[in-house]
Amino acid sequence: MKKAPLISLKGVSRHYPSGDGFTTVLDHVDLAIERGEMVAIIGASGSGKSTLMNILGCLDRPSEGEYLISGRPTFELEPDELAELRREHFGFIFQRYHLLGELDAVGNVEIPAIYAGQNRDARREKAETILDRLGMSDRTHHRPSQLSGGQQQRVSIARALVNDADVILADEPTGALDSHSGEEVLGILQELNREGHTIVIVTHDRNVAARAGRIIEIRDGEIISDTRKGDTSKSSPEGPVKHGKPKKPRFLGGIRDRFSEAFAMALRSMNAHRLRTFLTMLGIIIGTASVVCVVALGQGSQQQILKQISDLGTNTLYISPGKGFGDLKAAQITTLTLSDAGEIAKLPYVLAATPLNTTSSTIRVGDKEVSVSVNGVGAEYFATRNSKLLEGRFFDQHSVEDLAQVADIDDTARNTLFPHETGSVIGKIILLGKVPVRIVGVVKAEERGMGGATTLEAYLPYTTVQTRMTGSRSLQMIMVRVADTMDPAEAEKMITEFLTKRHGEKDFSIFNTGTLQKAVQATTAMLSLLVSSIAAISLFVGGIGVMNIMLVAVSERINEIGVRMAIGARQSDILQQFLIEAVLVCLIGGVLGVLLAAGFGLLFAQFGSPFHLIYSPTSIVVALLCSSLIGIGFGFIPARNASKLDPVVALARD
Ligand code: ADP
Ligand code: MG
Repeated sequence: MKKAPLISLKGVSRHYPSGDGFTTVLDHVDLAIERGEMVAIIGASGSGKSTLMNILGCLDRPSEGEYLISGRPTFELEPDELAELRREHFGFIFQRYHLLGELDAVGNVEIPAIYAGQNRDARREKAETILDRLGMSDRTHHRPSQLSGGQQQRVSIARALVNDADVILADEPTGALDSHSGEEVLGILQELNREGHTIVIVTHDRNVAARAGRIIEIRDGEIISDTRKGDTSKSSPEGPVKHGKPKKPRFLGGIRDRFSEAFAMALRSMNAHRLRTFLTMLGIIIGTASVVCVVALGQGSQQQILKQISDLGTNTLYISPGKGFGDLKAAQITTLTLSDAGEIAKLPYVLAATPLNTTSSTIRVGDKEVSVSVNGVGAEYFATRNSKLLEGRFFDQHSVEDLAQVADIDDTARNTLFPHETGSVIGKIILLGKVPVRIVGVVKAEERGMGGATTLEAYLPYTTVQTRMTGSRSLQMIMVRVADTMDPAEAEKMITEFLTKRHGEKDFSIFNTGTLQKAVQATTAMLSLLVSSIAAISLFVGGIGVMNIMLVAVSERINEIGVRMAIGARQSDILQQFLIEAVLVCLIGGVLGVLLAAGFGLLFAQFGSPFHLIYSPTSIVVALLCSSLIGIGFGFIPARNASKLDPVVALARD
C-alpha cells in the first residue's frame, strides 16, 4: 500500500460570512505534499494563499473538505492537539517576522521549546546553536528592534526550527526584505530543504517561486496549475536532521518552566506599563490598607476601652433605676434610695456600697466661672474607684454625716481654677452654684473614653449634694464593690433578688463590668465588620479596575497571543500568562496595601493617640488572600477571552 502523503487536502473550501451570504476564499482545493518537497504557492494578492497556508498550519480549519496529516484527519483533533502539531510538527515564518519585542533573539527562539517542555539548558544551547548556524552568533542578545529585517527573519527561522519541525511554512518570508536579505533567507530555506525539511513557501514573486522544486499557482481560491521541476527525487524520506540531542518530554519540569516563563512575561509587561499598572494597583492598595487599618483600629480601640473598664474594677456592680439602658422613665423612678445602699452595704459579700449622684453646676473663684460636674458620692467612693490622691485628703464618713461643705476636685479642675497657684490649694473656698465649699483634696483625673472632652470633676458627700443642691432624695446610681472572692455575676444575681424583694418589683437595672466588657467586645466586633465591609467594597472596585486593565492588555496584545498560538502555545499557556499578571497586580497591590497600613500605624503613634493600632495576622493574611482571589476572579474573564481567541483572527490583528 502506498504511504499516505505528509500533507493532503481533499476538497477543502473556506468560506467567510459576508453580507447575507458567504464569500468563498478557497474552493475545493485538492493538494498533496510529500515529505521533503519544497513547494511554492504563487498567486496574486487576495487569491487565498494565506488562507490556504493557515489551514495547512492548523491555525484555521476548512469549512468543507478534509485535511490529513500523514493520513490522519485533523478535524478530530482537540485544540491542544492542534497546538501540539503547531509546536512540534510545523514551523511558521511570517512576512512581518512576528517576534516578541520584549525578548532578545535567544528568548524568541526559545519560546516554542518552553511550550514543548524542554529543559532550560538544553533549549538555550539549542537556540544558540541554531542562531549560530544562521550566522547570528553575535546577535543572540539583541532585541528585535536592534536587528535588521533580514536578521529578524533569521531569528524567526531559528524559532521555527527549535523544536525540529519537519514542515516549514513560510508566508511571504521575503516580502518585507530587500533583495539581498531575501536572497539569503531563500538560501537558508533551500539548505533546510536539502537537509530534509519539507518547505511550503507562499509568494507572489515568480523569481522567489522559481527556487522551489514545485510551483502551485492559485487564483481566486482555485489551483490553476501545479508544476514540478525535473529532479524531485532529492527528497529524503527520513525527514530532517535533528539539531542536538533528542528531547525527553518532561512533565513537571515543563510545567514549572512554562509557569516561570509566564511569570517573567507578566513582570515584563507590568514593567512596560508602569504607570498604568500602578494606577490599577492603587484600588487594591487602598482597599487592602483600609481593611487592615480598620481592623487594627477596631482592635486597638477595643483594647483601650476594655482596659478602661478593667480600671473600673472587675468586681464592681452598678445599680441604676429604670428597666435598663435607655429607659426613658428612669429619671422619674425614685425608688432607689439611700437605705437601699445602706442595706446592700450590710450584705456579707459586699465590701462597700456608695451612692453616686451626678449633677452639673458652675464653680466660681474670684471672677472666674466654669462649669463642672458635681458627683455626690459616699466616702467609700474613692476606695471603690481606686482614686489617686495628689494633695490633701479624701473627705471621710464624718463629712458625709455632717453634710459638710467640702469637696475633692480633680487635677483638671485644679489647673483650670488656679492656673497660677504653685502652692497648695487645700483650704481654698470655691462657690459651687450658690454653695460655698472648701477644697480638702485634689485627686488625679479619671481616664475618660477616647477623645472625650475633659470635664472638670468635683466630688462632694452625697448628703451635701442632696440637701444643698438637688433636693432629691432618690439616687441616680449605687456603686457596689463586691468581695474579690465573689463571682461578680453571682453577686449581681443575689443583689438583684435582694433589691427586688425590697422594692416588690424589679424597677432597677444592674450591670457588672464583665457584662460591659462583653458588650464592648460585641459592639466593636460589629463595627469592625461593618466598616470592613465598606472597605471591602473598595477592594471590589479595585478588582473591577484590574479586570478593565486586563481587558485592555489582552486587546493590546492580541497579535502577540496569535503569534504564541501559532508557535505552539496551548490555551492554558495563554490563560496562565494573563492570569498570573492579574494575580501579580493584585498581590503586589495587597502587599503594598499592608505596608501602607503599617505606615499609617506608625504615623498614628506619632500623634500621641491614646491607643495603638493592633494588627491582627489573620486580617493581613485574609487581605492578601482576598486580593489574590480578586486577581483570579477578575482576571479570569480577560485571560479566558485571550485563550479562546482564534489564532488566525489574532494573528491578522496588527
Ligand atoms: P492572499 O494571502 O493570497 O493575499 P488571503 O488568503 O489573505 O489572500 O485572503 C483571500 C481573501 O479572503 C481576500 O479577499 C480577503 O479579503 C478574504 N479574507 C481573508 N480573511 C478573511 C476573514 N477573516 N474574513 C473575511 N474575509 C477574509
Ligand atoms: Mg497573504
